[in-house]
Amino acid sequence: MSAGKKKISSLDYPELGREAVEASGNGAISKLPPGLYVVATPIGNLGDITLRALATLAQADAVMCEDTRASGILLNLFGIKKPLFSCHDHNEDARTPDILRRIGKGEAVALISDAGLPAIADPGFRLVRACREAGHAVTVIPGANAALTALAGSGLPTDRFLFAGFLPPKSTARKKDIAALRHAEATLVFYESPQRLAASLADLAEVLGAARAAAVARELTKLHEETRRGTLGELAAHYAAHDVKGEIVILVERGADETENIDVDALLDARLKQLSVRDAVAEVAAMTGLPKKEIYARALARAPAKTTKK
Ligand code: SAM
Repeated sequence: MSAGKKKISSLDYPELGREAVEASGNGAISKLPPGLYVVATPIGNLGDITLRALATLAQADAVMCEDTRASGILLNLFGIKKPLFSCHDHNEDARTPDILRRIGKGEAVALISDAGLPAIADPGFRLVRACREAGHAVTVIPGANAALTALAGSGLPTDRFLFAGFLPPKSTARKKDIAALRHAEATLVFYESPQRLAASLADLAEVLGAARAAAVARELTKLHEETRRGTLGELAAHYAAHDVKGEIVILVERGADETENIDVDALLDARLKQLSVRDAVAEVAAMTGLPKKEIYARALARAPAKTTKK
């Protein structure tokens, strides 16, 4: 099929599926060698399914997926009918022996997730490890992934990046996780929910410094796709004032110099207003990565009355 023959808006998905299978097996549904096939699916736009993904799914003996209903609809759109079995965060370990047994008796088992690349902030890693340990073949059929799509379109440096998945929901744990990334000399990439976007950006600004360049990529590959660039401070203010919906990736540029970007004394002043000196020093040390001794000396200089009381 040439790109000129069909427009993206009028893709005939079942036809596309049939053509992919034909292209991979001379028209007949050929048998895949036994093994686990980790198959990427679209993160929004159905046109992002790959021909190889369609051929693999059509030829697999069984398809493991997070949500059998949602994946059934997806496969159906491409004219593929397959036995679907659930394999999600809560049953991956229990499901693994059955999958190993299937592969052992010669089956090709495909693994898909609700969207994107399985095993990336999705179930799959433990199953892949078990297959490798059992000596079974593991083949990844690459495709859409939200982190890489966001990074490639962010305009932030791509030479080195650190994918940090989802941050913790509670602010204290979140700030601790962010502080542990302060020294990373890489663009940071986070997945986030719309409900927590503003709070996470505020914590990122507080711990990494409000001046750091960042981007928020939303609804990638979909109708309302947007990437907003700004400093962490600007983005935190924007999303505090604007509720958003949809799926989100946050990206943060590496700090030019980690101590340059953070106002340790301002952090300390804020903490000293609410906490004991000991707790304030411990929290600021965790957030900045600076030695407690140094923070204590600063606290002493800033709040001598409070420090001598303790
Ligand atoms: N395995 C997927 C991948 O390869 O990207 C990620 C699955 S993870 C459970 C879902 C999260 O990925 C969402 O909460 C969001 O942070 C991000 N995500 C998925 N699709 C997205 C999209 N179209 N636009 C922006 N972020 C997306």
